[in-house]
Amino acid sequence: MTEQDLISTVIRPEIRALSAYKVADATGYIKLDAMENPYTWPEEIKAEWLKVIHAAEINRYPDPEAKSLCRILKEYNQIPAESDILLGNGSDEIIQLLLMALPGSATVMAPEPSFVMYKQIAQCLGLNYQGLPLHADTFELDLNLTLATIKSQQPEIIFLAYPNNPTGNLFDSSAIEQIIRQSKGLVIIDEAYAPFTNFSFINQLTNYKNLLVMRTVSKLGLAGLRLGFIAGDSMIINQLNKARLPYNINILTQCSVKFALTHPDMFTEQTEILCSERARMFLQLSTLKDIRPCPSAANFILFRTAKDKATDIFNALKNQGILIKNLSPQKGLLSDCLRVTIGKPEENNAFIKALKNAI
Ligand code: PMP
Repeated sequence: MTEQDLISTVIRPEIRALSAYKVADATGYIKLDAMENPYTWPEEIKAEWLKVIHAAEINRYPDPEAKSLCRILKEYNQIPAESDILLGNGSDEIIQLLLMALPGSATVMAPEPSFVMYKQIAQCLGLNYQGLPLHADTFELDLNLTLATIKSQQPEIIFLAYPNNPTGNLFDSSAIEQIIRQSKGLVIIDEAYAPFTNFSFINQLTNYKNLLVMRTVSKLGLAGLRLGFIAGDSMIINQLNKARLPYNINILTQCSVKFALTHPDMFTEQTEILCSERARMFLQLSTLKDIRPCPSAANFILFRTAKDKATDIFNALKNQGILIKNLSPQKGLLSDCLRVTIGKPEENNAFIKALKNAI
């Protein structure tokens, strides 16, 4: 049996057809590619944290339901008391868990362009995936098309990132509500970028049984700990919980996130700086020739370059030590698009300077 024969026997065709999710090696670069918070913690907070880690009983399994962490997350995120939450090893794991629970013939919908993992995981699991093209100029939902597609295809699940990645905009909230009302399946509002906007669907959770809101601590500044959660009707959360692996949130993550959230002011301060840097970056990008930034409610800005220039500019930035994300290989609406994460003021200045050289 050849290697190819073995692979064809043991790996499903939909997985063979996929490419693995790749992350660029950022060693030595100013890293503005992955929507991370550039700030770490003051030394005295780190020292307190080490004491917490020191006390963790790593010879024991962690609390399988991470009960105290759930309580703290519910409070920090103002989740209604009636709603339940379920935790994942990053919100990526929750997307996988949601899709694993669907019937094998299910249809998954998400706007295009949006967060790539909705499609990647749906395809990996052999589900039908249906992209909903956004309006070309504004990246807003095409409501008529979306409602018509929901009616004709009856998707079991729709993902709406709010704000959307990679475009940064918040979809019209009344359009989202119409989608929730029209949909007979689940609607997942993915609020990964919640720390950078005041808009949220969390206070709508009790109005709709089919609405779930997903969040992560990654963008807040804890990406390395890998923790996401989904909130919604307890009957649905209970069902999803059956598909969750026991102990999926390790003990170091549980105690570290609990500790981190006892310092809410530190995160507020950091996100406030990033929001004001976002406004400054947007203005600076707007003044550059042939660069058209899109308004953003997240910690990154998508911008269009002159036609077919995105890859050249991306490479020219890399040559100057700045790593951002080149979205132009995704083609379609993103053909001439690059995405920059908001960094520290000095990193943002270095980026703008390098971009001026590049164009
Ligand atoms: N949702 C969106 C919209 C994202 O952009 C990302 C990460 N870039 C995620 C979810 C995944 O986040 P996590 O780190 O919690 O897996």
